[in-house]
Amino acid sequence: MRLYVNCQGGPHRLYFIWVAQTRADLPNPINVTCNLDGTAADYHPWEVYAEAQAGGTAGGAILGGLLGILAGPVGVVLGGIAGGAIGGGAERQDAENARRFNGS
Ligand SMILES: [Zn+2]
Repeated sequence: MRLYVNCQGGPHRLYFIWVAQTRADLPNPINVTCNLDGTAADYHPWEVYAEAQAGGTAGGAILGGLLGILAGPVGVVLGGIAGGAIGGGAERQDAENARRFNGS
């Protein structure tokens, strides 16, 4: 899955390069600078949403479009989570992870 916020500067999403299992795992606030319109803003965990990705998390979290993000300690923790999704059932698991995140 990948996590995103709705940009405060325009009608688009800003995707993060890292993922978290729940909103409680996110830093607060999260300062993001949009690389489309240059808008810098602080976002809060409750403004972050998850979406499942076809094909599961493997690789997608990294390749799937990153726009400037301050990773901080979260990025380190989260690398392992993405790696763990590799393998059978990754796509179904990814959808479950996204659902769980959005409910957190
Ligand atoms: Zn923007």
